[in-house]
Amino acid sequence: KSGFISIIGRPNVGKSTYLNRVIGQKIAIMSDKPQTTRNKVQGVLTLNDAQMIFIDTPGIHKPKHKLGDFMMKVAQNTLKGVDLVLFMINAEEGFGRGDEFIIEKLKTITTPVFLVINKIDQIHPDELMPLIETYSSKLQFKEVVPISALQGNNVDTLLNQIKEFL
Ligand code: GDP
Ligand code: MG
Repeated sequence: KSGFISIIGRPNVGKSTYLNRVIGQKIAIMSDKPQTTRNKVQGVLTLNDAQMIFIDTPGIHKPKHKLGDFMMKVAQNTLKGVDLVLFMINAEEGFGRGDEFIIEKLKTITTPVFLVINKIDQIHPDELMPLIETYSSKLQFKEVVPISALQGNNVDTLLNQIKEFL
């Protein structure tokens, strides 16, 4: 089993922390390579029975400016070309305009999307359901996985769910 996975989410939701946790030092090695292709490999995780290639989606993480048509096309093609999108959100901050922007882009593709709710160590368990309901009312997710990338909670569960999907 192998597949391409894109992690998208607002700045500071914990994307790098998650990648570092699952891939460790290999990330630095990968991201030091000059990448001329539009799909930048952020890291490769090789397990006994599966390989996961994590791909950056340029332009969609930090839409500081209104993206030009070209950048938008690049981002959408990247999302179309992967096997799975991990849409990571920050449980502590909840829904915001950055998420709205990303959800609008995700609506234009048919690639399956997991909702990854990160930083659950920062919230009360009672706050989880309302968060899930808010996001699920805006987009349909194949899986909803609460994790703490920093502390490691549920990170293995998420990997298994990704693996089953490839
Ligand atoms: P990125 O911009 O999405 O790549 O986010 P980073 O991985 O750089 O993380 C942003 C900040 O959030 C850093 O200070 C991380 O240590 C912190 N962070 C990431 N994951 C967690 C988490 O699960 N719990 C907590 N409490 N902090 C986290
Ligand atoms: Mg980062």
